[in-house]
Amino acid sequence: MFLFNRFVLTLFFILTATISMGKTLLKNGRFYGLPNVSSVECKDGRILSFNPNHSNFYESTIDLKNGWVYPGFIDGHMHLTGLGWALETLDLVGTPDKLSIISIVKKATLNSPKGRWIQGRGWDQNDWENQTYPTALDLDRVSAEHPVVLRRIDGHALWANTKAMKIAGISNKTIEPDGGKILYDKSNKPSGIFIDNAMDLITAFIPKSTEEDKYRQTVKAQTLLNSLGITSVHDAGVGVNDISAYKKLIGENLLTVRIFAMLNDSPEDVEFFLENGPVTQKPFLTIRTLKVYMDGALGSRGAALLEPYSDDPKQSGLLFMDKNNLSSIVKKFNQAGFQVNTHGIGDKAIRIILDAYEDSGEKEMRNRIEHAQIVHPNDINRFKELGIIPAMQATHCTSDMPWADERLGEERLSRAYPWQSFAQLGIPVPGGSDAPVEFPDPLVGIYAAITRQDSSGWPEGGWQPQERLTLEQAIHMYTLWPAYASFEENDKGKIELGYFADFTVLDKPLSDENPKMILKTKVTHTIVNGKVVYQAYDESK
Ligand SMILES: [Zn+2]
Repeated sequence: MFLFNRFVLTLFFILTATISMGKTLLKNGRFYGLPNVSSVECKDGRILSFNPNHSNFYESTIDLKNGWVYPGFIDGHMHLTGLGWALETLDLVGTPDKLSIISIVKKATLNSPKGRWIQGRGWDQNDWENQTYPTALDLDRVSAEHPVVLRRIDGHALWANTKAMKIAGISNKTIEPDGGKILYDKSNKPSGIFIDNAMDLITAFIPKSTEEDKYRQTVKAQTLLNSLGITSVHDAGVGVNDISAYKKLIGENLLTVRIFAMLNDSPEDVEFFLENGPVTQKPFLTIRTLKVYMDGALGSRGAALLEPYSDDPKQSGLLFMDKNNLSSIVKKFNQAGFQVNTHGIGDKAIRIILDAYEDSGEKEMRNRIEHAQIVHPNDINRFKELGIIPAMQATHCTSDMPWADERLGEERLSRAYPWQSFAQLGIPVPGGSDAPVEFPDPLVGIYAAITRQDSSGWPEGGWQPQERLTLEQAIHMYTLWPAYASFEENDKGKIELGYFADFTVLDKPLSDENPKMILKTKVTHTIVNGKVVYQAYDESK
């Protein structure tokens, strides 16, 4: 009898131990929206139960040390390998003038073999005292032997040196492509600045990133993103090389951020998917979206506006295609099961996109407008009626507000970055960083969304403060709303049974009482699929 009991007990023990295998316990947390929960049990990357019996056997236990736990933050529009690429190229963000950039380039040429392309990004002439565009000549005196290309902060203008223009065969006979602009100097020679589609005239000559490059860039980018509490990204424009790199990382169990990928609009990138249909139900990689461009950006006056630019009345922006063109793309892709996400910044571009979606889009495909920065008041409601999602970036507003009034003029400012106008109508507004355009810190995004101020608190009361979000809305902007925009609202964006075990743990609760505290809040843990992918401190200490 005794032996039998022991046998039963042992068997019981083995069974329960086996059943508990693969389970993770998160303990000592304060979970957002769940005041009575202090621990969460996870299995197979999902939330299994709340406040389980701690005496269970767990494969791993994570002590959250009374941290404040939020649903894993999602960046609803960014460029994953682009961020990795940016981490590997010259960082010109925040450079105060042309001279500082020239000295950074000079240093780079000293460390680089002759003939190798030197690339950089992040300059913004709007931040300089002299706001005129720089020229090739500015770079030539430090870089005669190296082709140099430096992208503007928004990625919509390129500053090249003479060597790069020579390689690309640029002369005053070069024809401006549609949707692009070449700037000329006083002697009518290309000055070295190429805008929007004209950038391709130069970039086509830069050696292409290989799959190996993309793999390395993804690893660099995800390490940074995890340290900022990001567990998922919407990757706004991927090609076959990106996808191969992601698949390789997934195969090696090394991908630590979930990717909702938007395909580049190029035949070689979409062909396979149009034939084989969308990729869903894969916990780390979803491919069911096409990314296209309708216009440029505001900073380089490429955003297509209904009325001309206030600071350059001869210009009203660039359109990359007409309505019929977009309509036929939307029809083809929606019918094949793909969402269409169109870059639209100016009110004219946005109106054309809405028209095309209205004509040819299917509501259940949740088609999106990426950025949706300047929206005519008559068009706000159409997003609701047509089920169109505006994917917006709070930090674009706070980066652009010092000069947006010059571009747009007083009357149009109230149409700029209208998050609250959308949210009030119940339209989800997924937030993102557009990294590498902006630094991908969601806490900075949440701060910008609720204050419409820069980190110093300027302007007092917030810029166009009627469009500020509440704290709860701003949290939704980085959790629930992007989850909806990627058809994943039943998997992520909330802390709920059965949802992905993706969490962002902070050292303080988010509060709108003193918004600047949000900028001082630290991520202590980032958990993806029930595994810690970032921890701020060393457990052994
Ligand atoms: Zn983007």
